[in-house]
Amino acid sequence: MSEFAVVEAAPPIEVFQLSRDCQADTHTQKINLGVGAYRTPEGKPWILPVVKKAEAQLAKDIDAETINHEYLPVLGLDSFATAATSMVLGKDSPALKEERAFGVQSLSGTGALRNGAEFLFRQLKRTVFYFSDPTWGNHGLIFKNAGFTDARKYRYWNKDTCGFNFEGMIEDLQNAPEGAVIILHACAHNPTGIDPSQEQWGKIADVMQEKKLFPFFDCAYQGFASGDLDQDAWAVRFFVERGFEMFCSQSFSKNFGLYNERAGNLTVVVKDKSLIENMKSQITLIVRAMYSNPPAHGGRIVDLVLKDEQLFKEWCECIKVMSSRIIEMRQGLRERLEKLSTPGQWNHITEQIGMFSFTGLTPEMCQFLLKEKHVYLLKNGRISMCGVTPSNLDYLAESINEAVN
Ligand code: PMP
Repeated sequence: MSEFAVVEAAPPIEVFQLSRDCQADTHTQKINLGVGAYRTPEGKPWILPVVKKAEAQLAKDIDAETINHEYLPVLGLDSFATAATSMVLGKDSPALKEERAFGVQSLSGTGALRNGAEFLFRQLKRTVFYFSDPTWGNHGLIFKNAGFTDARKYRYWNKDTCGFNFEGMIEDLQNAPEGAVIILHACAHNPTGIDPSQEQWGKIADVMQEKKLFPFFDCAYQGFASGDLDQDAWAVRFFVERGFEMFCSQSFSKNFGLYNERAGNLTVVVKDKSLIENMKSQITLIVRAMYSNPPAHGGRIVDLVLKDEQLFKEWCECIKVMSSRIIEMRQGLRERLEKLSTPGQWNHITEQIGMFSFTGLTPEMCQFLLKEKHVYLLKNGRISMCGVTPSNLDYLAESINEAVN
């Protein structure tokens, strides 16, 4: 009898299972609205032209041996981490001017969250964390595996209005214990696509300051949401201006289309620059034990683009292409559902921003779409707008219409 006979089957990761099921489906009109990855109007993955240019440059640098495959430092490529930190905080950030912010290259957004969570658990002995209800499916697992023992939710989605439950969120934050770590989506909330207004962020900051709660921003969609890097970083910068110490995980998966290159950064903002050296030395040990040092390729691409004026301009254009296509698809879907007089309100589809729409479809409706219509979506009703294209819009709207009726 094997020692491993005790191992029980873990539940599948819904979003990856959906992709596998969709791939195996031979129906000609199948649509994959599960995975959050950008698709062209033809439904294909997109390598950003600016990324290809940067890769061509890197190939030349490899050829000339000005770069190589030696280990990066444990905390990663310093110029990348600095550029990423400046991208989210803004060049004029008081935290940068006062040299009390730094970055740690991480294994994309997921790895930045894990590095930050490990640090907060090990060094500050934090055990309580809050995430929005609902949130991205990995937040709970990352923090629990880092050692946090008390996972709590703050209210976020109001299913009656398909909108933001602001009062619920504030009440839950008001009842949180001092020192609790609060995961906040910097922009383009996943899965609801609803962000607080600037005024609401003000109130959230008031409560968090009063109750001494620790903000951990998750910034996975900067630029991808509105098409504008500064606009999408507004909330993070506002918290810095309000004087918070905080962490912010950054992902370059979506805005650079670098999903599998694991390009990410953990931005850290503290009150006093003299603290940084000790903090870096402890994060170094955390990273050393987990993966020793990060991969270079994705970080180098981002670094090249962020530092070169012309490439940066081209990248901003790419971001606009992606965000505009998604906004168009939102309009297209809403128009069609309204034209079909599909029961219910569909204004939330255009009011939500970012990659996802939280449709408000019930689990039964989602099941109908999956089984009868070959439309693959999460059972909580989240759809990735990237999977919607001009050629499947009609079929999708008609299918949703049937599911609701
Ligand atoms: N946070 C949120 C809210 C996300 O949606 C994602 C990607 N789905 C991530 C973090 C991390 O993604 P990655 O590890 O690919 O950067």
